[in-house]
Amino acid sequence: MDDASLPAPLEQTLHSARALVLADLAARDVADSDVVSLVEDAVTHRRWWVRQWPEGAPYVAGLVAQDVQDALLERYGRWPLCPVCDAGDPHALDVEPELGPDPHWVCGKAGVVVAPVGGLR
Ligand SMILES: [Zn+2]
Repeated sequence: MDDASLPAPLEQTLHSARALVLADLAARDVADSDVVSLVEDAVTHRRWWVRQWPEGAPYVAGLVAQDVQDALLERYGRWPLCPVCDAGDPHALDVEPELGPDPHWVCGKAGVVVAPVGGLR
């Protein structure tokens, strides 16, 4: 069995999660080659994860977004910055739900849904 292959629906899920997060990175002009490789790392990790737990497929997009967010925080800083709060220190949006389908970027301070994952401007 080819270790890299997954059933087609799971591959599609991973492909779509990658595309959504790349779209959000591009929307904020941070999709350089180093950052794209962080996305690939996150997708590779979640490929392993979803193989162990195929029922978690609807959660993959939100998880990849959070993985990339964590990796960026270590190397580059907070991402994506909140577009809602003008005053005070810039802060990053949160993914909600952390583990669930249909993930959105949310401002935790104002309690506002900013955009679906993949829908940042
Ligand atoms: Zn905010």
